Amino acid sequence: MAEEKKEKKIKPYKQKKSCPKCGPGVYLAEHKDRRSCGKCGYYEKI
Ligand SMILES: [Zn+2]
Repeated sequence: MAEEKKEKKIKPYKQKKSCPKCGPGVYLAEHKDRRSCGKCGYYEKI
């Protein structure tokens, strides 16, 4: 219900980075000091 509204509120300046291993469409999860992929386990430091 409320989730649909949240998706439209995504701000363009905070673009998610896609996983270099999984390719476009798979995005890295943002953490305090790193980004990580939930699919393949790839992560990188910010
Ligand atoms: Zn990945």
